Amino acid sequence: MSLRRWLASLIHQSGTAGWRLRRYRQRLPILAYHRILDDDTDLASLADPGLFSTRVSDFRRQVDWLTRHADCVTFNTLGQARRCPVIITFDDGYEDNYRLAWPVLRDAGIAGVFFVTTDFIDHGQPLWFDRVAVALRQHDGKLPGGIMPPPEAEHRYGSALEQCLRWMKSMDDSRRIEVLTALEQNLSKTNLSHHRPMSWDQLREMAASGMEIGSHSCSHAVLANETRSRIRNELLQSRQRIEDETGKPCRSLAYPVGGEAATNPIVIDEARKAGYQHACSYISGINHRPPADPMQLHRLHVELDQSLYEFTSTLAFPSVFGYRS
Ligand SMILES: [Zn+2]
Repeated sequence: MSLRRWLASLIHQSGTAGWRLRRYRQRLPILAYHRILDDDTDLASLADPGLFSTRVSDFRRQVDWLTRHADCVTFNTLGQARRCPVIITFDDGYEDNYRLAWPVLRDAGIAGVFFVTTDFIDHGQPLWFDRVAVALRQHDGKLPGGIMPPPEAEHRYGSALEQCLRWMKSMDDSRRIEVLTALEQNLSKTNLSHHRPMSWDQLREMAASGMEIGSHSCSHAVLANETRSRIRNELLQSRQRIEDETGKPCRSLAYPVGGEAATNPIVIDEARKAGYQHACSYISGINHRPPADPMQLHRLHVELDQSLYEFTSTLAFPSVFGYRS
């Protein structure tokens, strides 16, 4: 057992993690999930296992622990928290959020925030990073000739997929589409049914049960790489789309990609002007309550290889256990 895991088990089993969380009256931890995995799915069958945050049975254990020590609320119901508030968020809008995550939240009597990419919900076309993962798998994990990330990306990151994703996150959307088209050239058509979005019917059902539906932009473009007018359209149109479909106000946002390079002062300014009241990055950390800047909220990442002990220790000691963005 690694030192990290040993320390986490000590913190969890001694009750320290729960004790620390219960004392967080002036803190606002926000958890960031993406996809949820069935218990019986083989990881080797997935093009990009890195997009899965947890298996459903582990998610149930995490929620069970959270509800014993904190009030799981949404941005809309934050003011109702009596104990430490924790906000559970999901990015992107995959159908496993409806099929696997929502029933767990509903059974526990709590709500979460689902940030959806509205073009993905509208058209079902897999998100660009899913298409990259599927294409690379068909290329046996190697980039085809003629597609070369800059050498610094190659040295800094491990797998070809990680190199390629990091590189493509630095592009604007039109350049990214060019590279993606080149990557997918000459590939046979693959089954992308594993990458389905939720439907608007499903989202309406979730919203009616108290889940908060927030925006993750229209196209999942990296907003900091786009023009001001494109940023404005992505933020305004996605919010409008969600409100039209769910009939509920959409006031929360998760910046696509969400790391240090995903936003800049223009993006944050446009998000505020578009009417959002809370916006999450993917930068690891815990927020003060009230937050210093509600348009730059940090989140704690939940990762597939995290044990329950690491999950609870990350909440209790984020600077020690929190994953870096
Ligand atoms: Zn995303």
